[in-house]
Amino acid sequence: MRYRINQRTQDKISEIGLGSAYMPGTPLPEAIVALRRAYEGGINYYDLAAGDGKAFPMYGEAFADVRKNILYQIHFGADYSKGTYGWSLNLETIKQSVDRQLKELRTDYIDYGFIHCQDEFSDWETYQKNGVYDYILRLKEQGVVRHLGLSSHTPAVIQRIMDDVDIDMLMFSINPAYDYGQGEYANGSVDERTSIYHRCEAEGVGISVMKPFSGGQLLDAAQSPFGKALSQYQCIRYALDKPGVLTVLPGAQSVREIEELLAYEDQAEEALDYSVIGSFAPPAANGKCVYCNHCKPCPVGIDIGLVNKYYDLAQVGDVLAVKHYKTLEKNASDCIQCGHCDSRCPFSVRQSERMLEIKDYMDSLK
Ligand code: SF4
Ligand code: SF4
Repeated sequence: MRYRINQRTQDKISEIGLGSAYMPGTPLPEAIVALRRAYEGGINYYDLAAGDGKAFPMYGEAFADVRKNILYQIHFGADYSKGTYGWSLNLETIKQSVDRQLKELRTDYIDYGFIHCQDEFSDWETYQKNGVYDYILRLKEQGVVRHLGLSSHTPAVIQRIMDDVDIDMLMFSINPAYDYGQGEYANGSVDERTSIYHRCEAEGVGISVMKPFSGGQLLDAAQSPFGKALSQYQCIRYALDKPGVLTVLPGAQSVREIEELLAYEDQAEEALDYSVIGSFAPPAANGKCVYCNHCKPCPVGIDIGLVNKYYDLAQVGDVLAVKHYKTLEKNASDCIQCGHCDSRCPFSVRQSERMLEIKDYMDSLK
């Protein structure tokens, strides 16, 4: 398992995490075996916006003895009083729900306490007015909540909340369908969504990715808005390539499905190449580098995706990205304008021109 570091909290987080939408449907003994397999395979990050309240005693049973080695995302606003998932902005309901979740998880602390599912500006206003945000802060002062998270599907609301409060982790829905304006949670334009990735990276806020397969639609040609199936590995890689992303949280409900997810770590580069989505890209996305590296190899050995990522981040004020760029063995100054990348890019990026632009920009920062 490969791990990424949350720059704000210094937590070491597995790049494959686990969502909990489906596991509660599995009989307890099998679910426990599956969760333990996930843990043994190196998965240390678990989201608990579960589809059903059965998830909590299940995770408690599976992980009580290794609790200190794993990280939980717990959502202040997910309510299981009726058994299955419900959404609430009511302080008392949320308090009772969180108390019960902790008890059933057999833990007394929350690694990432989430301001849960804020998709409208009015949600955030109500959340504060009802005292839920203050409640999380109190638990943080008491050490029950260690770090603050936010989950949302809406870029404009995320920007507002990030302006208002300091978060350590954002849970956001990332996949090529949503990024390209297709599907239930395709909120925000390509540029608005990209701004979220850049802001998180620049401010050290980690992103954990929900719905990486668009609820499974992207894996099935008949259901995919693109009329073509992607593999789960292509979708995972797509999300992990976005700036700021630390971990992807697919769901699973059996040992077999956990094994399939863990196998991501051993896939050859060709199996992860998602450049086929270049043929689906809407006009607004054309000409924008998505850091996929499909245009490699560069004859002089430039890591084209990475150079572009640092450039985009530098432009939004990420000084660390400039530092990283300057320490690259090869950068835009080494480009010999051969044009190989231009002919290979499925997103119509005129990369050779962009290399000149990057060189000028980075040189101007000397
Ligand atoms: S130039 Fe094109 S192929 Fe190369 S990394 Fe960017 S988007 Fe991918
Ligand atoms: S144009 Fe520059 S970046 Fe692109 S492949 Fe050639 S040398 Fe590499």
